[in-house]
Amino acid sequence: MRTQVAIIGSGPSGLLLGQLLTEAGIDNVILDRVGKDYILGRVRAGVLEEGTVWLMDKAKSGARLHAEGLPHDGFSLAFDGRDHRIDLHGLTGGKRVMIYGQTELTRDLMAHREQSGGLTIYDAANVCPHEFEGAAPYITYEKEGIAHRIDCDFIAGCDGFHGVSRKSVPAKAIRCFEKIYPFGWLGLLADAPPVNHELIYANHPRGFALCSMRSMTRSRYYIQCPLDEKVENWSDDRFWDELRRRLPAHHAEALLTAPSFEKSIAPLRSFVTEPMRFGRLFLVGDAAHIVPPTGAKGLNLAASDVHYLFSGLAEHYQDHSNAGLDAYSAHALARVWKAVRFSWWMTTMIHRFPDTGDFDQKIQEAELDYLTHSRAASTALAENYVGLPF
Ligand SMILES: Cc1cc2nc3c(=O)[nH]c(=O)nc-3n(C[C@H](O)[C@H](O)[C@H](O)COP(=O)(O)OP(=O)(O)OC[C@H]3O[C@@H](n4cnc5c(N)ncnc54)[C@H](O)[C@@H]3O)c2cc1C
Repeated sequence: MRTQVAIIGSGPSGLLLGQLLTEAGIDNVILDRVGKDYILGRVRAGVLEEGTVWLMDKAKSGARLHAEGLPHDGFSLAFDGRDHRIDLHGLTGGKRVMIYGQTELTRDLMAHREQSGGLTIYDAANVCPHEFEGAAPYITYEKEGIAHRIDCDFIAGCDGFHGVSRKSVPAKAIRCFEKIYPFGWLGLLADAPPVNHELIYANHPRGFALCSMRSMTRSRYYIQCPLDEKVENWSDDRFWDELRRRLPAHHAEALLTAPSFEKSIAPLRSFVTEPMRFGRLFLVGDAAHIVPPTGAKGLNLAASDVHYLFSGLAEHYQDHSNAGLDAYSAHALARVWKAVRFSWWMTTMIHRFPDTGDFDQKIQEAELDYLTHSRAASTALAENYVGLPF
């Protein structure tokens, strides 16, 4: 088989790139090592920047997002037992974020790909990119025990943190930067109305808590937990009790509970690889970088990478220029590092670190106080939260 762009990974970055290429008349094939139902069963991000919504529209996949997504104009930073609202809309000159689950975004992109006749090969085993340093790259994989090969012009490695693309790059050609945080997030999903109409990021002496949502009937809550915590130690009742303790009293009293249908622990890490291009192989999204979920940047960074790569590929095929592809890594990394900095900063500001002494605690309190009382500081937070421009 031959295609113009072979895409490894059918997560948000692979699907969005595939759909933009298809809309531009550029042939592409997506391969994923798992099946469609497995991908749609993954519960992940839920806050979309305007740039991500714009890209979904550009990929002609944004209709349901606009009909069912919840636009949010602000969020609450809760500490000292009180809410301090960050007015995203007012502070950024009219910008907002959209609450729409990653699962639904993925479902929309998959449905549109099927309608437009795009090829996705699910359950592809031993996917491997070859010869990407030269002019004729190709991918090999196995399906139902039979070996296959796809020749292509370019390979997009959209296969997440544990994928094969980054691992295929010679160690001497790549540099990795990493920070592991000394705690995780215990998350719970339940069909209960959200406790507040906007997200609440709570800093409390017992640890961080986040009240988030997927819709007006489905809530996603998180509490900070030790890295070695086990999910089986947390009954629903224990989770709800702990969440209530970390929220201002009026929210704790208003919290409506329901049986959970997903509960998991995610470690927090910042990770970046440089560069993001190796000959004709491009790393995109989580394959190249990971951020802690605190600032809701993971999925949105994947989308901005897609924007840069799609622009470069469109320029290559339509204008016969490689300028965009040559600039891909530098453009993407400039935005990635700013989001990594923001996620690190927000994580540092609202979590309780196990080794925090009295001095560090006072600095954290001063920072929260400054942030919520200075318009300049609130604006910097809001500008980063709604997403820096591409
Ligand atoms: C548990 C969890 C919770 C998260 N919560 C949030 C959140 O609240 N907010 C936020 O902004 N972000 C969150 N994120 C991050 C966000 O989900 C990711 O940034 C986003 O999924 C990145 O999309 P992607 O397409 O680059 O990678 P992925 O979504 O990881 O997709 C990669 C795809 O590649 C496939 N693949 C992997 N290896 C291979 C292989 N060898 N061969 C073929 N295919 C392969 C995988 O099956 C997968 O379908 C979370 C992530 C996790 C893991």
